[in-house]
Amino acid sequence: MARRRIGWLSWAPPRAGVALALGAVGLLLVGLAASAQDLPSRCTGLCRANRAGHFVALSDVFRPEGAVDGDDLLARVDRTPAGALPPDYAPRDLVDLETMRPARPHRCTPPAHQCLRREAARAYRALATAMREDGHRPHVGSAFRDYRVQCSTFLGWAADGGFCDATTSSALPGHSEHQLGTTIDLFTYAWTNDGDKWREGYGCSPGGQWIAEHAAEHGFVLSYPLHPDYRREGSSCAGEEARIDPRTGYRYEPWHLRFVGVEAAARFEAAREASGPGTLGELTLGQWLGQRSSSAEARVTAPVCDGCNCDRCATLEAAEGPCEAPALALGEDGAPRGAEGPPRFVSARLLREGEALIVEARVAVPANTFTQPPVITEASGVRYRRGRRGAELPGIGPRTFTPLEGAHRLVIGFDDRDDWPWSAALVAPSRTGIANGLAERIVAAPGELTVRVPLDGVAPGTRVRVGLAEGRRARALFRGRAP
Ligand SMILES: [Zn+2]
Repeated sequence: MARRRIGWLSWAPPRAGVALALGAVGLLLVGLAASAQDLPSRCTGLCRANRAGHFVALSDVFRPEGAVDGDDLLARVDRTPAGALPPDYAPRDLVDLETMRPARPHRCTPPAHQCLRREAARAYRALATAMREDGHRPHVGSAFRDYRVQCSTFLGWAADGGFCDATTSSALPGHSEHQLGTTIDLFTYAWTNDGDKWREGYGCSPGGQWIAEHAAEHGFVLSYPLHPDYRREGSSCAGEEARIDPRTGYRYEPWHLRFVGVEAAARFEAAREASGPGTLGELTLGQWLGQRSSSAEARVTAPVCDGCNCDRCATLEAAEGPCEAPALALGEDGAPRGAEGPPRFVSARLLREGEALIVEARVAVPANTFTQPPVITEASGVRYRRGRRGAELPGIGPRTFTPLEGAHRLVIGFDDRDDWPWSAALVAPSRTGIANGLAERIVAAPGELTVRVPLDGVAPGTRVRVGLAEGRRARALFRGRAP
């Protein structure tokens, strides 16, 4: 049986489809796994050496004490290296959701003993009451999970499908919002009684819709909404649910609720409403929390280096990171270390491939350089068409990207006009187009790159300019005539 992909933060052992359908049996499997393996206190299975040294840099997972203040209801915990909680962090005011009695972190073993921080637990009980009054019986999938439980979950996935595969299915320990004690995976019995609860469609089920509509009234917010690009036309709750959202690094999780307080939830909802829901500018909770931070880390959209996606990740380990050349090295405060200088233009040429004109440029990119979408690679399938301003995204259509300060990109123009209508990110040819769902800076690939941009509808003999730009400042570095 093919293994189901479930949410990054989902608390489930490998082959979850079977285990979780059996409820209590799922708990038993994880319980046994945890005790039989006698887990190392710091989850050292995460850094088994590979050819490059480590799978992940230790400092990306084991953050120094105080890196993220977990007690802050608005703490930002995510996949970025700076978004990690210390391994020994657990809230001091956890209570058992059933009894509301104080609970020690290690006694919180989902699903038998679900815990939240006291204030979040009170809010959850009010939310649950309101749900029941409207005819939905709440079912808690998972609430607080400590570092060890997350470690066990991650290693379980890794044992099943390998380390790299596990990074696409589970949060690295320290990087899960569930460790905050304010996060809950909330379903309804009507949904869970009907099959595997992680299956697609919950967001559009009556319970899922109720949550989307009413959770904020009780101080809860969905951390991982459905990306506007993935929505089925005319729907806010159904579409390509299994795709990872570039804004959050997670799939759509209509059950994953984070308590931020009623007042903050209202402020977030107002900000989200103002940001243009359904557009690329639509604000996520993580982005909103990042805006509160004055440090540059808020602008880093690269995830933790996991040893598998080193073209587009960031690491706190400057010297010997998990990648042979870390794509983005961060300082201790999580802010990017500066690049040595701007990218250097090496060469360019124009060629024909079928009807299309191809601009092929070589650029030397120093480590720690930012670039921005559109990502135009064979893997992304994006191209330009003369007469249209935006990049043609497969399945989506034309999209324009506003130049961002501090982001370097390849630019293309025509000699009969003085602007640069087209541009491309400085990324490796293997990079997919997932970042084209972002209006933010992304990490450029370090080293000498070949960027190939297909242009449709450009007649032979057309004079083409190629250059490099940062923000709105561009320099022409090559001129040629289309073959
Ligand atoms: Zn969750």
